[in-house]
Amino acid sequence: MAAGSAIQIPSRLPLLLTHEGVLLPGSTMRTSVDSPRNMQLVRSRLLKGTSLRSTIIGVIPNTSDPTSDCDDLPSLHRIGTAALAVQVVGSNWPKPHYTLLVTGLCRFQILQLLKEKPYPVAEVEQLDRLEQFTNQHKSEEELGELSEQFYKYAVQLVEMLDMSVPAVAKLRRLLDNLPREALPDILTSIIRTSNQEKLQILDAVRLEERFKMTIPLLVRQIEGLKLLQKTRKPKQDDDKRVVAIRPNRRISHIPSTTEDEEEEEDHDDVVMLEKKIRTSSMSEQALKVCLKEIKRLKKMPQSMPEYALTRNYLELMVELPWNKSTKDRLEIRAARILLDNDHYAMEKLKKRVLEYLAVRQLKNNLKGPILCFVGPPGVGKTSVGRSIAKTLGREFHRIALGGVCDQSDIRGHRRTYVGSMPGRIINGLKTVGVNNPVFLLDEVDKLGKSLQGDPAAALLEVLDPEQNHSFTDHYLNVAFDLSQVLFIATANTTATIPPALLDRMEIIQVPGYTQEEKIEIAHRHLIPKQLEQHGLTPQQIQIPQVTTLDIITRYTREAGVRSLDRKLGAICRAVAVKVAEGQHKETKPDRAEVGEGEDCKEHVTEDAKPESISDTADLALPPEMPILIDFHALKDILGPPMYEMEVSERLSQPGVAIGLAWTPLGGEIMFVEASRMDGEGQLTLTGQLGDVMKESAHLAISWLRSNAKRYQLTNASGSFDLLDNTDIHLHFPAGAVTKDGPSAGVTIVTCLASLFSGRLVCSDVAMTGEITLRGLVLPVGGIKDKVLAAHRAGLKRIIIPRRNEKDLEEIAVNVRQDLTFVMASCLDEVLNAAFDGGFAVKPRVERLNSKL
Ligand code: ADP
Repeated sequence: MAAGSAIQIPSRLPLLLTHEGVLLPGSTMRTSVDSPRNMQLVRSRLLKGTSLRSTIIGVIPNTSDPTSDCDDLPSLHRIGTAALAVQVVGSNWPKPHYTLLVTGLCRFQILQLLKEKPYPVAEVEQLDRLEQFTNQHKSEEELGELSEQFYKYAVQLVEMLDMSVPAVAKLRRLLDNLPREALPDILTSIIRTSNQEKLQILDAVRLEERFKMTIPLLVRQIEGLKLLQKTRKPKQDDDKRVVAIRPNRRISHIPSTTEDEEEEEDHDDVVMLEKKIRTSSMSEQALKVCLKEIKRLKKMPQSMPEYALTRNYLELMVELPWNKSTKDRLEIRAARILLDNDHYAMEKLKKRVLEYLAVRQLKNNLKGPILCFVGPPGVGKTSVGRSIAKTLGREFHRIALGGVCDQSDIRGHRRTYVGSMPGRIINGLKTVGVNNPVFLLDEVDKLGKSLQGDPAAALLEVLDPEQNHSFTDHYLNVAFDLSQVLFIATANTTATIPPALLDRMEIIQVPGYTQEEKIEIAHRHLIPKQLEQHGLTPQQIQIPQVTTLDIITRYTREAGVRSLDRKLGAICRAVAVKVAEGQHKETKPDRAEVGEGEDCKEHVTEDAKPESISDTADLALPPEMPILIDFHALKDILGPPMYEMEVSERLSQPGVAIGLAWTPLGGEIMFVEASRMDGEGQLTLTGQLGDVMKESAHLAISWLRSNAKRYQLTNASGSFDLLDNTDIHLHFPAGAVTKDGPSAGVTIVTCLASLFSGRLVCSDVAMTGEITLRGLVLPVGGIKDKVLAAHRAGLKRIIIPRRNEKDLEEIAVNVRQDLTFVMASCLDEVLNAAFDGGFAVKPRVERLNSKL
């Protein structure tokens, strides 16, 4: 603190009375202030003062201030230290007080006390650090010798301390840089001295005296340190010995480990880590960051929470596959065979995947589009992704994105958070250990959004070939090259994928399977897989195709094959029990042959008893015969059929029509029901309909009302005003599922036309199409899924908008052959096709009109 230069203090100083510690010029002291007078000084002088001068106070040592401000001022020490108040910290606990940080400037003596309250102020005389003191030395040689001696001791003392501690190293530098006359005060306040000794130094106003008095204190400290080092030495030797024998000790499992050893071991680990970092192939930028971090780690005490954090970070950096990759072995012919072997049908998908792979074979660093398979669950999207990895000979990693609503899930947390970790992309790379895996981003349509940011936005960077060569995870904080990673995404619907993300991907629709395809998939893939999983062989179980068809139509209703797979699993489990029991029985008669005849008899009778699977299906065949799963066995294992062909039953009264709906889970048939009752012309809609669907219902009613005469549609009392004294209720089962979209328009019209005409809609016809107020039928989406759903449900005729005719080409020939398609461009055509014998205007009615 400006130790060498001259200082001029004010001639009047407010006095702070301390009784603990002695502040010497050039040193800093923290002192607690709680007596009334001192508190007043802090409040009205230090906290209110605005000039630098107001922060200069006189610190008078060895004087305890009375606890009450009414008491008289005690006698004050004659000499004090003028000080600069550097910091004031107030606190209310345990009682109101301030903590002052003061730096000593110079000595002064009190000439006269000017006032005592609210805090003492005195007229003072500065004793050192004045212009004349700094320039004028008494006798240069005498002081020179003294100061030289003092300096030597001071250096000796400082060098005995641990120079690796930054504060000690700084002190060593200060010894050379500070003026000699400042040193006695500074060193006295650093070394171990009593308050009394410090007071003596304070009182030694003459520099010569101060040097003389400080030297013995330094010598005492040096001797003390020497003694301390002597007593520590043997222990250090011990340490060395321990280090020397450590390799053996490890083998002989001597349990004792001292703290020092542990630290040393840890130090070894850090050195190893550093070595790994230097030899790893990480990018230059990453290497720079790692080396900086390891430097910090070396200086950090292990107990610091940041130690573990930094270490984990460095370990991750070393583990990441910066430059490690697998070699692609890509041969298109082999890939085609592999894809065909693993997956039945899905021709369009396989064709596109092969194109994609072929281009990759020709151009290795393809910045191609990201493929996104969109389709209902269980149609093999994930498993195609896995096959692609297999054909390329790459590692495969699936990242489930369903429900992820925090962008740090993708991009990682910043390392400032406790428990921060990298995002799923970097974690995936660490798991697979190579930088060119196939990453399957599963369920991109189910990404959430929350206050923690939009994960879809984070994915944009990952999926953009122009950007992802320098993807920066928040945890890593250095760029990682993702350009070698092959990303494939899957989704159930494109409707909920954010548009920007959708834009980065090439959508490949994977529609549901037809019944025939499902049978093939079951027999080629699912059944063999289930048999293997359950330890069964084809000699033990036989599932004929009719049974598979029964499972598909009566026990499952899905676009994919997942539920079918589960049902097959249940059958295999039941058969496994039978087979295991059979083996058990098989072994017993062997033993019976040895001589236990009676036992054998018992088993023969037991076998004859009907058992769970066998009672109706006669499955109690000898174990070596395959167990045949027929419909009876199916009922036994899976229970009564869950879905019956209910179509004709439900269409047995007017006011019901079958519509076709598209859902992310595939197509579905949908019964639309209508009823009418006396009322005031209100329309009630139930079944959780969206706005578009409600509007379709209004459109349908309006169109029918305007055409009521033409079609001879009447309300209950025979009036053409259909809503006159009539309420209409339209219901769309299943009531709990939210529905929306325009494609139910034609179905609502048909259903209401049936209601008002009292005629039944044909029981084998389903329909889809949007309507307009003028009675036109407009095209809709999802035709393929809808047609498959109708086919699954056993319907025969399907009414679709004429402009959707082109979509029929995508549908398998065998399905098309089973169905009759009616193309409709206006509602007249729809109604004509939906009712037996058409729905044209009856000539009878016209005749009646003419009579009137
Ligand atoms: P998704 O990802 O579309 O929900 P999965 O890929 O998980 O469906 O497929 C479910 C199961 O169905 C898997 O065991 C898969 O092998 C099987 N699978 C689906 N489609 C086919 C197919 N065309 N050929 C063979 N197996 C299939």
